[in-house]
Amino acid sequence: MANGRHSVVIGVLGLQGDFQEHLETLARLGVEGRNVRTPEQVSACDALILPGGESTTIGKLMLRFGVDQAIRDLHAAGKPIFGTCAGAILLSTTVVEGNVHNLGLLDATICRNAYGRQTDSFETDLDIPVLGDEPLRAVFIRAPRFEALGDHVEVLASVDGEPVLVRQGNVLAATFHPELTTDGRVHALLLS
Ligand code: GLN
Repeated sequence: MANGRHSVVIGVLGLQGDFQEHLETLARLGVEGRNVRTPEQVSACDALILPGGESTTIGKLMLRFGVDQAIRDLHAAGKPIFGTCAGAILLSTTVVEGNVHNLGLLDATICRNAYGRQTDSFETDLDIPVLGDEPLRAVFIRAPRFEALGDHVEVLASVDGEPVLVRQGNVLAATFHPELTTDGRVHALLLS
């Protein structure tokens, strides 16, 4: 609170994965990011980021820390939620491979580790019309692939015709890692 006004706090779920990189991206944008791990901490946020990492591990820890319901409640309250890579897997309604405790907030079927061994990590320039003309450098690391999307899911960017950045209401999901480059435009989209 400054001058009696509430400044926006973006929570980053800090149970496992690259949450630190998200916090650094938010700091570069001049926004308060907060590492959150408990239901109370999640509930106190204006928006939440689910980082990349291991979706199976993060899913288990979400249950153990009891934050899964707090995240669902945040979503129901209309607060923006952004998942990158493992975070996108956790947000989806159907996960094709592995036993993941997913949240089911994004009407999507997603397949884990869907790019073969040869290309399990790659970088490419994305055209993202909602972010302007400048292409966005995107890093994919053992990335998942959206196999099906519900009618209300909007595709914001694709690679070779495959959706890699999607939005459904207050949920944003990327199969790549915008927190690993210095371009903060995807995070800025979450804030807008
Ligand atoms: N392969 C990981 C998973 O299935 C996701 C990889 C990532 O977040 N970079 O959870």
